[in-house]
Amino acid sequence: MPFAYYTRLSAARQRIYRQSDAIETLDLPQGVVAGARVARLRASLARDERAAVQAASQDLLDVLVAGYRVPPIRGRVLARRPANGSGELHGLYEPDEAGKPARITVWMRTAARRDIVAFKTFLRTLIHELCHHLDYELYRMPETFHTEGFYKRESTLVNALLREESTAGDLPG
Ligand SMILES: [Zn+2]
Repeated sequence: MPFAYYTRLSAARQRIYRQSDAIETLDLPQGVVAGARVARLRASLARDERAAVQAASQDLLDVLVAGYRVPPIRGRVLARRPANGSGELHGLYEPDEAGKPARITVWMRTAARRDIVAFKTFLRTLIHELCHHLDYELYRMPETFHTEGFYKRESTLVNALLREESTAGDLPG
């Protein structure tokens, strides 16, 4: 069952929607070892160190985009979302433009809540925005839609990363 807005899309856009909806899993790229990176990101968020969170986020994005063989992303982590910010709850994806790489912005706090977002929410937001990038760059869709398939891809990759983290042990980062 597509989401309600599907019926309002043109036939061409409905085709893109169905393409998105049909892809239900997103595995970690072959050979990518991400557990220690996820652990580092969790620790830096817990310490509330914005620069460290940004560095750890960029590191994770770098290894993932390299693994999927897609163009790079500039990750940006901001302390707190502005009250009048538009877009999504905790993050924003801006496609590449005029030679500048695509950008992901993630906020450590929402405008309404002063608390730091939970780690799983933060990771999910980062991966959500990465999934928009992959729609364009990996699947070559002309547009990126929120479909059930999109959210399933997001979930499978988040769960794979958390599994990697929990079994990271003494594996190299
Ligand atoms: Zn989105």
